[in-house]
Amino acid sequence: MALIRSAALVTILAYTVSLGTTVAVDQTPSAQDTDIDRNVRPGDDFYRYANGNWLRTATGSGEGPDTRALLVKRTNQRVRDLIQEAAELESAKGSVAQKVGDYYASLMDEAGIEAKGLAPLATELAAISAITNKTSLSAYLGATLNSEVDGLTDNADHIFGVWVNQGFAESDHYVYHLLQGGLGMPDRDDYIDPSPKMVELRGQYKAHIGAVLKLAGIADPESRAARILALEIQIAQSHAPDSDAADVFKQNNPWKRADFRVKAPGMDWDAYFKSAGVAGQPEFIVWQPSAVTGTSALISSEDIDLWKDYLKVHLIEHYASVLPKAVAAEHFVFYGKILAGAQQVPDRSDDAIRGTNAALGQAVGQLYTQRYFPPEAKAKAQAMVRDLFGAYRARISNLSWMSPRTKEKALAKLAALRIGVGYPDKWIDYSTLDVVRGDAFGNMQRAEAFNRLRNLAKLKQPADPDEWRIDPQIVGAVIVFSPNTETFSAGILQPPFFDRQGDAASNYGSAGAGIAHEISHSFDELGNIYDDQGRLGKWWTAEDATNYHAAAAKLEAQFDRYCPLSDLCVNGKQVSGENIADVAGLLTAHDAYILSLKGKADVVIDGLTGEQRFFLAFAKRWRKIQDEAALRRQVKTDSHAPGEYRSDTVRNVDAWYKAYSVAAGDKLYLKPEDRVKIW
Ligand SMILES: [Zn+2]
Repeated sequence: MALIRSAALVTILAYTVSLGTTVAVDQTPSAQDTDIDRNVRPGDDFYRYANGNWLRTATGSGEGPDTRALLVKRTNQRVRDLIQEAAELESAKGSVAQKVGDYYASLMDEAGIEAKGLAPLATELAAISAITNKTSLSAYLGATLNSEVDGLTDNADHIFGVWVNQGFAESDHYVYHLLQGGLGMPDRDDYIDPSPKMVELRGQYKAHIGAVLKLAGIADPESRAARILALEIQIAQSHAPDSDAADVFKQNNPWKRADFRVKAPGMDWDAYFKSAGVAGQPEFIVWQPSAVTGTSALISSEDIDLWKDYLKVHLIEHYASVLPKAVAAEHFVFYGKILAGAQQVPDRSDDAIRGTNAALGQAVGQLYTQRYFPPEAKAKAQAMVRDLFGAYRARISNLSWMSPRTKEKALAKLAALRIGVGYPDKWIDYSTLDVVRGDAFGNMQRAEAFNRLRNLAKLKQPADPDEWRIDPQIVGAVIVFSPNTETFSAGILQPPFFDRQGDAASNYGSAGAGIAHEISHSFDELGNIYDDQGRLGKWWTAEDATNYHAAAAKLEAQFDRYCPLSDLCVNGKQVSGENIADVAGLLTAHDAYILSLKGKADVVIDGLTGEQRFFLAFAKRWRKIQDEAALRRQVKTDSHAPGEYRSDTVRNVDAWYKAYSVAAGDKLYLKPEDRVKIW
């Protein structure tokens, strides 16, 4: 089971903050913005001026809602409707709609799946049974080497996973990245932590393995389960600790093909790589060498029959969603109830939607964007991105704290940065993937094989920095530092973040400031270890870093003074990196907004000037209903400050003072010399 973790290489941006409703451009004088609380003076409390009425009327508990949560809900419903419509339609064989519809319909065909029993597994189970020695075991394991991991996910389903991406030292071609895997529980600590809670969890996992063996009709399930757990504990002991995931330099371990025999004896690597389809691959990047060495040794030291039991259990688990309900029910007991704390079995359609998205992400994405993100939306977002680039070019050129040589590198990196918006220019071509209604198991197997072959084919092609790593229908964005690229999906580029028919001032103040925030990460302490082509290597000088930290200290002091509760204040240092990005994002988006006007004055809408709407949209980004416990948790642990204080970023921008006539004596007023500008 794969777990999403944050690796230094790639960052999934969850947009944990909320954005507000965009002021719609309306020819007729419309109803005024009902979220604003006009009893609050903008200069005293801009967050409550912008959101006061919304905060009073929105309901929620714990963490939410915020706008992102509402967008996820809306978008999930749209995706569900599209997939279910496709399942009802009679689409031309081979079309995207046919594949999506038939994939979903097959997953929903509970009776058909039930009638087949475990028969679909017969070929695979026979292949496992035919294993007799180390070579045939290695060959079988090689055939399971799937591209089910990437820089975002580690702990592959099988003993190793592969990610085909550019290398850390060269950017022109794809490289074979090998990542650790093979554990049924998500965390290495689940296996080695001696606390009573984890001991209990391991007991529950062992019982679950036993239940799966029993379902497969394998004799003596209890003692076999104990041995399988013991094997996984040994695999876990060789895994790299979670803390290593934050340090990309630890993952950059180039191995030549011949190194495997010397550094990781045990596996028959010839047999392994041959059946993985990469017999001729000369170079690999091994992210966790200890896991490759440790697991390979276990191929030799452990009994072949134990490995065969292990493989059978993991095979059944892997296909649980397309097997009879007894298997799915047992899967839910451990993964749903015990691990995730779920009370109820999810609706079958929820799993089917998830499965369809996982297998045919960009096919569903095509259906989604055809309806909800037309080419003119993409063109509008691209124009905004061009303005943001123009604004950044000017800002970086004028930086006073960065040395001239470093500035040159930053400008080169900006010039090379690829920003994708909405959906990819080139979709994945699914024409060689056959989807057959009534064959849920076969569809899943073929989709996985299709994915594996597509990734293997990349090894022979030049690296493509414009490849998408997030599906358009996901409400999110991804920064990938290697290659140098950022992607903002159609799911996140919708009202109120971005309205293709809406007001430019609001779009730039909301989505524009968000995109500009992320761009700044390419040049800050996160991005400064990757060059313009996404190759590893620090490009700041020690002096650049010293100057940057001196400037950051001023902003940290500003945030230290925010105390949401009498005994709870923000820790400026903990949230420093994100606040700097907020300031950079807001300033640059404002520059870009001015650029977009091309010298013309903006119109007044609902009594608000363009400048006012720009900052208003920014303040709305951050609104959120949050109870005290959630607020305390965020202040103590999160690298992002609570939304209210992120909204107060406006205090550092001169144009905000002008837009809302904020002056000395107003609560948010800062003297010009106290306003922080780092970028
Ligand atoms: Zn950020």
